[in-house]
Amino acid sequence: MENVIIVGTGCAGLTAAIYTGRANLNPLVIEGNQPGGQLTTTSEVENFPGWPEGIDGYSLMDNLRKQATRFGTRFENNLIDSVDFSGDVKILKAGDKTYEAKTVIISTGASPRLLGLDSEKKLFGTGGVSTCATCDGAFYRDMNVVVVGGGDSACEEALFLTRFASKVTLIHRRDELRASKIMADRTLANEKIEMCWDSGVTNIEGADDGAVSGVSVKNLKTGEEKTIPCKGAFIAIGHIPNTQPFADALKTDENGYFLAEPGSQIRTNVPGVYVAGDCVDHIFRQAITAAGMGCQAAIEAERWMAEQE
Ligand code: NAP
Repeated sequence: MENVIIVGTGCAGLTAAIYTGRANLNPLVIEGNQPGGQLTTTSEVENFPGWPEGIDGYSLMDNLRKQATRFGTRFENNLIDSVDFSGDVKILKAGDKTYEAKTVIISTGASPRLLGLDSEKKLFGTGGVSTCATCDGAFYRDMNVVVVGGGDSACEEALFLTRFASKVTLIHRRDELRASKIMADRTLANEKIEMCWDSGVTNIEGADDGAVSGVSVKNLKTGEEKTIPCKGAFIAIGHIPNTQPFADALKTDENGYFLAEPGSQIRTNVPGVYVAGDCVDHIFRQAITAAGMGCQAAIEAERWMAEQE
């Protein structure tokens, strides 16, 4: 039986691996479809403390992985599809394979919801389509960008982007924002933000050249079509937390995010099972906050195991 199994290899999971590794717990990390998590899809990370010149997302995750390996972390590539946390031994299943552990740290992240366009897929990342203004906004100084969405995230992204971009067009499929009143008011009052109401995105232009040149929209009421020239397209239509295989065993909220126990960010309703990063945090969603939660989860797992012995 393993001391600790960590599911997920984003900032939260790898930080948990570094800490549990250094505590001599010989952690096993199960990595799924996207080793390294969301940061591997972003270009430059300029806000992770300790990298004054910035670091590309892939290198940052590669460094974390090397650091975890140095302290005895083992990695296995598998997709956990169900769990049984009802007994003292925590059971995780991936197809025919069964894993057993004393403690489990789940850091499976969340996947940004996308529009589902081919052009969006082709231009994602270095092509100019992004799901993270905090990560990529600074690359669009004095340029036009668009944000798609109408919730708090879209407003937050649009407002953040006004610090750099010359103009931000917010494309929303209805004529009213879903965002909280304060965020909506701020967004509508910002002179750099232009609203494009009642509009669905039909294409992101520039796929053949490898760089966004505009976003084509269709007015859902009038049928009118137009292309908004821009260099960056930020998609902010919500996230889908990767919690499904665990949802029967652990408490989740109405949007599927893990629910931590009151007074804790990372403790679940099952003693010895912890959650960290974007699968539980839908507010901050930063590499550094995920890393912090991974650290907390590792320390709590270590203490919990010591208490049981
Ligand atoms: P959200 O509230 O679910 O909003 C998603 C937005 O995207 C909605 O406006 C929705 O349109 C639109 N949308 C969804 N699917 C779409 C599609 N296929 N095509 C076009 N548009 C689509 O998601 P969120 O903004 O990420 O917020 C998630 C949660 O985090 C919320 O509870 C929010 O309050 C919270 N949050 C809070 C803060 C903050 O307080 N600072 C910041 C960020 C997020 P419709 O409106 O037509 O459905």
